[in-house]
Amino acid sequence: MPSKGWIEVSDQYCKGCELCISACPQEVIELEMNKLTPKGYHPAHIFKEGCTGCAICALVCPDAAITVYREVIKTRLAGV
Ligand code: SF4
Ligand code: SF4
Repeated sequence: MPSKGWIEVSDQYCKGCELCISACPQEVIELEMNKLTPKGYHPAHIFKEGCTGCAICALVCPDAAITVYREVIKTRLAGV
């Protein structure tokens, strides 16, 4: 089962450069066109299901604006 993740993008640091959008293998990030950051940029956000929590977006973000969360799924493999 693929892991499930989500991200939070800081309005303080995101400058809408789109690097995370290009880097996301799941193609789940876009710029939020109806929102502006305090500095006047359209911030990145997740717009659909499919984030795996791989953290590639956070690694490529030059402004460290992304925090990644990943759901831990516990599966019982054997035993009673
Ligand atoms: S890479 Fe960082 S600064 Fe650029 S759009 Fe994504 S979150 Fe914003
Ligand atoms: S954690 Fe991975 S899958 Fe999720 S938004 Fe970032 S790059 Fe895409």
